[in-house]
Amino acid sequence: MTTTGTADFKHSKCYANTEGGCSTRISGEHFVSHSLIRLYTFDDPHVTIRHNSGFGVRNPVSPRRFVANVLCEAHNNGLSDADAAALKFATFLRDIALRYRNGSGAWGANESVEVSGDDFQRWVLKLLATHAAGNAITADDELVKSPILEDSIHLLLNRAAWPSTWGLCVAADATNLDLKFDPFTRLETVTDDWWGVTPMLKNGDQTLVGGVVELAGVGFGLSLYNPGRGAPGFDLPANPLRGSIQRPSFMAWELNGVRKQVNFTWNDHHEHRNITYTMDRT
Ligand SMILES: [Zn+2]
Repeated sequence: MTTTGTADFKHSKCYANTEGGCSTRISGEHFVSHSLIRLYTFDDPHVTIRHNSGFGVRNPVSPRRFVANVLCEAHNNGLSDADAAALKFATFLRDIALRYRNGSGAWGANESVEVSGDDFQRWVLKLLATHAAGNAITADDELVKSPILEDSIHLLLNRAAWPSTWGLCVAADATNLDLKFDPFTRLETVTDDWWGVTPMLKNGDQTLVGGVVELAGVGFGLSLYNPGRGAPGFDLPANPLRGSIQRPSFMAWELNGVRKQVNFTWNDHHEHRNITYTMDRT
């Protein structure tokens, strides 16, 4: 098995091949991380999965077939830190949700977990890029071929720094229903609605320019362009990223003064704000 890449080899089916470094074998890249599928399906050997958004894999398949052959093994393996960050985030929130049981269980004591924000941001980008490369995106009910910016690949492979206006963001405005922030009071977030993806495509050539990825009941926006924060158009209802904050240093959920907190670590030089979602007292 070839798992290391060759500097000047570009596998024609690997969307991360822009500067070589590919291995000769293509790997089945899961549309959503296999480790997450296992977490949410309790490793049930009979479980099936499909896209429930009307695109991608429409008929239920076994998790091992919920893949797109769009990354070589070397580049796929190189993104395992991104999968690990997503798994850590989801495991923390899911565990609390299962204990809390929408208020019928126990909220417990203060808890926190540390997740690499840089790796999590790359996981969101990887999920979007895999859907674009895997021909799993539709617009107006038509399957579209969505090109991936070369800059996106540089960011995915840690070859470039994220511009300050680009990147991950989370909800900071409760009226924006496009960015979810409730991991605990909807039981579906631990059963059949634990992830989702809504790509954002550029008008005209349909280039992937970002999107919203949901995990464990939390929506993460991602922009691969300057979405114009601070300008009047940013807060229009058509913008799913409205009212968000970028790259949080932490997200916390507080109930009766007890906090569950995800601390994100970052190696960039950008400003990092934080957000606390206060839940209704019980
Ligand atoms: Zn490759």
